[in-house]
Amino acid sequence: MKCRECSEKLEVLRMCSRVKMRCTGCKREYHIHEVASDLDIETEKILEKYTAIIYD
Ligand SMILES: [Zn+2]
Repeated sequence: MKCRECSEKLEVLRMCSRVKMRCTGCKREYHIHEVASDLDIETEKILEKYTAIIYD
């Protein structure tokens, strides 16, 4: 999925017990709930691995 600021690709970033999205371009970080409405299939599959962490 794309960054809202610069349209570069977002990567899933796992930090301790939290999961965030980070832009590979401008390095802006997004909380999952901020981008939840924009999640694409690829990203959802990655996040499925972390479901227990995100929604605990
Ligand atoms: Zn960006």
